Amino acid sequence: MSTVQGRLRIAVQKSGRLSERSLDLVRDAGLRVVKGNNDLLYRVENYPIDLLRVRDDDIPTFVADGVCDLGIVGENVLEEVRNGGPTAEVLMPLGFGRCTLKIAIPPTLAYDGPASLDGLRIATSYPKILRRWLDERNIAADIVTMRGAVEVAPRLKLASAICDLVSTGATLEANGLAPKETVLDSQAVLIKSPVAPEAGLQHLLDSIIERMAGVVSSQG
Ligand code: ATP
Ligand code: ZN
Repeated sequence: MSTVQGRLRIAVQKSGRLSERSLDLVRDAGLRVVKGNNDLLYRVENYPIDLLRVRDDDIPTFVADGVCDLGIVGENVLEEVRNGGPTAEVLMPLGFGRCTLKIAIPPTLAYDGPASLDGLRIATSYPKILRRWLDERNIAADIVTMRGAVEVAPRLKLASAICDLVSTGATLEANGLAPKETVLDSQAVLIKSPVAPEAGLQHLLDSIIERMAGVVSSQG
């Protein structure tokens, strides 16, 4: 009787700021990636491994649930989708996808520290992270959740401040907003499922993690 060999799955962002560097890391670790029949799955031809290409927001859940064995995702997304259930384990920071979640305000708004945010409406795509940050400081602010275009919220009078990801600060500046507080410093991380891989794949999983660690440390 022959058994069908299972495959490991690595979740990567399908298209966006993390996609290219995620694929680079996988390739540098010695995996030969080939496009499959569909866009969702890329195959690795020299190992029993597939890359599942999804929205970054779905990656923490897929890894936590054991649908994928590994994933590459920003710490910002990982923090936001944390839900009290079983979670993915962070294995290592990857040194790319760096950004900062910042609170920014129009220059017309008086600002004298976090307490100045009390009673304001703040627009963000990261309501949970922001709520925790505000609660830790005993600030009662309303949070308006927006999926995108957060930086235009003050101009549209949807909110008086925003909490958004910043890398260069150019977008804030272009929208006449000034950064005031850092809520989270983020970069891409490698995460691992709490669910053990299919039979016979643990050794391969360990060796892929080890090789990725080697690639990351060589990039210092
Ligand atoms: P998806 O379609 O996968 O949901 P997205 O629009 O949520 O894509 P991207 O804009 O591609 O996400 O950003 C992916 C990740 O890149 C962010 O979650 C963050 O970790 C990181 N990142 C680095 N710099 C920035 C930046 N300036 N703005 C936003 N995200 C950044
Ligand atoms: Zn996303």
